[in-house]
Amino acid sequence: MVQAFDHLLDATIEHLGALKSDGHSSILMEDESMELLRKMVHSSKQKPRTTVEQKLKPRQNPIPETRKLDATVSVTPSQAIELAQEEKDLIGRVEDWPDLAPDQKELAMAELRKRAEECQRCSHLVQSRTQVVFGVGTVHADLMLVGEAPGMDEDREGKPFVGKAGQLLTKIIDAMGLSRDRIYIGNVLKCRPDTPGRSFGNRKPTPMEMQTCWPYLMEQIKIIRPRVLVALGTTAVDGLLGEKSLGITRLRGRFQDFRGIPVMPTYHPAYVLRNPAKAIKRQVWEDMLQVMEHLGMTVSAKQRQFFTK
Ligand code: SF4
Repeated sequence: MVQAFDHLLDATIEHLGALKSDGHSSILMEDESMELLRKMVHSSKQKPRTTVEQKLKPRQNPIPETRKLDATVSVTPSQAIELAQEEKDLIGRVEDWPDLAPDQKELAMAELRKRAEECQRCSHLVQSRTQVVFGVGTVHADLMLVGEAPGMDEDREGKPFVGKAGQLLTKIIDAMGLSRDRIYIGNVLKCRPDTPGRSFGNRKPTPMEMQTCWPYLMEQIKIIRPRVLVALGTTAVDGLLGEKSLGITRLRGRFQDFRGIPVMPTYHPAYVLRNPAKAIKRQVWEDMLQVMEHLGMTVSAKQRQFFTK
């Protein structure tokens, strides 16, 4: 009953939020409905709520201090916030994370992938997704790129960044003297955000969806322990830096901190495609030059000149 109430309350809050975003500042409510709602709130307060501890299951992989929700059940928005906060409080900094041996990394990532591929936490996305788009590349990467969410192409192929934006990203990676299989690429959200009523197009993930999926990204980062993270676009910056985020335009080009790992915010390749001015390409490239320098990579004179003429 309490759980049903939670679901109902969460759905009501979401609905009211949507109305507010659409410009509504008030709603009409029957006296009878108001009374019913009061009774439900009163009755809910009398009963013990499920604690976070009860919702979590102990995990059995080589990163023991992270606790996990059972991925086979869907979660309500309030549970997602509660659990994401719990995870964030537990996560610590990179120097506190276990330094896994190469085979432990492979094992931990395979186990995490399996859990994500079976994940049912966002029931609406489970219904609309073709598959979970977990991430690609090597767990031994020094560099990890974080994007937003799978789009239609990624959902079909099961890999992040495979459409036109993905092709541009591949060119950037190549220009750095790297390749997709020498780095790791993942998204803040692992399932394609649904587009109810439309069979095409993509949408940004909601903050709630990002909170719900956040533990998977966090675990990927913990397993890989990259020396540098690149946040591609506003959603990735918000996903990694959370409330500290000032938006991509103000942050790009300056290293930020994620639990002791430097994060370079830069524009999403899709933004670069929509704004093909050379100045934007140059800004992205300057961000990547900083990343290369931070990784101790050799930067040739030719590389330094890209997008200046
Ligand atoms: S978006 Fe993330 S949390 Fe939600 S169902 Fe997919 S894998 Fe699970």
